[in-house]
Amino acid sequence: MKRYETDVLVIGGGGAATASTIAAHDAGARTMLAVKGQFGVPGVRGAGATSNPKADFWTIRTVGPKGGLFNPPEVVWGDMCQLGLGTADAELCQIFVDEVTEAIKRLRSMGMRFQSKMLATMPATKESKGTNNIVQIQKAVIAGTNTVVVEHANFTDILVEDGRCMGAVGIHDDGEPFVVQAGAVVLATGGIGQLFRYSFNPPGNTGDGYAMALRAGAELFNMEFMQQGLATTWPTQAMVMLYEMPDPYKMFNREGKAFVKDYLPAGLGLTDVSNLKAFHWPVSCRDAAIHLDRAIHGEAVAGRGTDHDAIFLDLSGTKRGFQPEVFHEYMKSVGIDLDHDLLQIQIHHHTSNGGVRIDKHAESRVKGLFACGETAGWQGADRVGGTMLGGSQVFGFRAGTRAAEAARDRPQREIRKDELDARLLERLARANERRGTTRPGSLLAPLQREMWSRLLVEKDAADLAHARAFVREQRGRLETDLLIAEPFDLVLMFEQRNLLDVAEAILAAADLRKESRGSHYRSDYPERDDANWMTNIFITYENGELGLTRKWINEARGWTDAGSVRIMPWG
Ligand SMILES: Cc1cc2nc3c(=O)[nH]c(=O)nc-3n(C[C@H](O)[C@H](O)[C@H](O)COP(=O)(O)OP(=O)(O)OC[C@H]3O[C@@H](n4cnc5c(N)ncnc54)[C@H](O)[C@@H]3O)c2cc1C
Repeated sequence: MKRYETDVLVIGGGGAATASTIAAHDAGARTMLAVKGQFGVPGVRGAGATSNPKADFWTIRTVGPKGGLFNPPEVVWGDMCQLGLGTADAELCQIFVDEVTEAIKRLRSMGMRFQSKMLATMPATKESKGTNNIVQIQKAVIAGTNTVVVEHANFTDILVEDGRCMGAVGIHDDGEPFVVQAGAVVLATGGIGQLFRYSFNPPGNTGDGYAMALRAGAELFNMEFMQQGLATTWPTQAMVMLYEMPDPYKMFNREGKAFVKDYLPAGLGLTDVSNLKAFHWPVSCRDAAIHLDRAIHGEAVAGRGTDHDAIFLDLSGTKRGFQPEVFHEYMKSVGIDLDHDLLQIQIHHHTSNGGVRIDKHAESRVKGLFACGETAGWQGADRVGGTMLGGSQVFGFRAGTRAAEAARDRPQREIRKDELDARLLERLARANERRGTTRPGSLLAPLQREMWSRLLVEKDAADLAHARAFVREQRGRLETDLLIAEPFDLVLMFEQRNLLDVAEAILAAADLRKESRGSHYRSDYPERDDANWMTNIFITYENGELGLTRKWINEARGWTDAGSVRIMPWG
């Protein structure tokens, strides 16, 4: 078994991982950044959402001076809490608002060029190879440090002894196991886009950080809140950028029927939902625009979508709003002329708003185990656009800085062999002994379809029960009918286990929350119910069982719905 040793181990290769590696190094720690796939190469395993070439431009939410006109801190913080519908962590949102300007300054000092001084937007230009280059810029800084970078390292478990994180274990792509003994571990493994048939996230984002943290004794929360967005499904996948459209959307199913109104509650028209959606297109669903998402998704689930699971969007003859040309040109380059052709669009998983419960130093309840970026939970039922990338920098920096400190106080002893065996070696031995028929990779597509159809956009008790039975069935096959035909199957086996663990956690939270709030829409409980559900759902894993607890993190401070948000557009 390969052995590594370091002060701070950062797992991941996105914007949060790179920010925390630099911070830990600057705080005097020996650092290791380890990532599945290749570090910082867009479009492959290892790229992460930060480097994913699927949008035309990226934004970090900027915060202006206090009392000023442009995004003053009190307005940004207020909007974050409003969009979170009482479930975003108000204290961590305050830290974001206080520190994001400094984080943007750090990026600028590393060489990041934004489009303008006020808006930290980055176009996906030819020079940046169509991707957001936060990772490229921080990777260059890391190259100038003595950080050890390990690629093709698929982490499977966190090592915890006596309540303290001691490192992590995993396997390389060739099936070789490894252990990293570390003074502190930062989980920056992104979200769980790969749980869903349609997602903007790259192949490596399989929720490993959530699953590893949960099994290690950390808490997850807000897992039922996932943000959705619209993208084309054919001839390529591209986020549809059409803010502030002045006209109602013209959408048709495969039979040429305009269907949206079939999904609208009484009193709501196509123009109403179009106007609402236009303020946060393509994402977010705090308001009644969720019915537009339900309609698009519902038609495909009912079999009335195109061969590419899409519905048609007709933009010919429409006056276009904010930033349309980039998208227009991009679609032209793939053979779709928006003036004449119909777009094929569908709802995709965009980001996970929940995650590992962290304190203000980004530490979980397991000492020495930190989380940041999309792996950490702090956002609520819906979120302000630009706060995930900004949050990755703010909490990545905090995690790295504090992890360097935690590493200095670590116990001075070797990892116990029994921990290692239990976490990895026994499982590998068992997997290699199995002589079944199911290769782990074959389970992914059916799981993605099930979760996209029954969990992402709209669900009821029957959907959730079906999806939970599906997860149990897949677990059974992994246990009893596994076939490892080549070393990489082992990697896929661990990923599938993680996907199932996190799916189970999300399904349990979605089942428990018997109301609709933000992106969590239950067709059997379509209304928000503050009287019973103004709370967060925490998830733990103890003695082989998931435990769900209702605890409202903003209990002391309270929350009142102001009815609207002030920053427009907010997606
Ligand atoms: C197309 C698109 C556009 C977006 N636009 C915006 C925007 O404009 N503004 C905004 O704020 N947010 C935006 N988001 C969301 C935002 O980009 C992500 O939330 C953020 O980049 C997540 O960063 P991260 O570092 O936490 O994770 P990621 O960038 O996803 O990186 C995760 C890393 O962990 C690695 N990894 C995962 N599991 C393991 C494992 N077991 N072992 C080793 N390594 C592992 C992955 O390979 C990857 O390198 C967008 C997302 C997408 C997909």
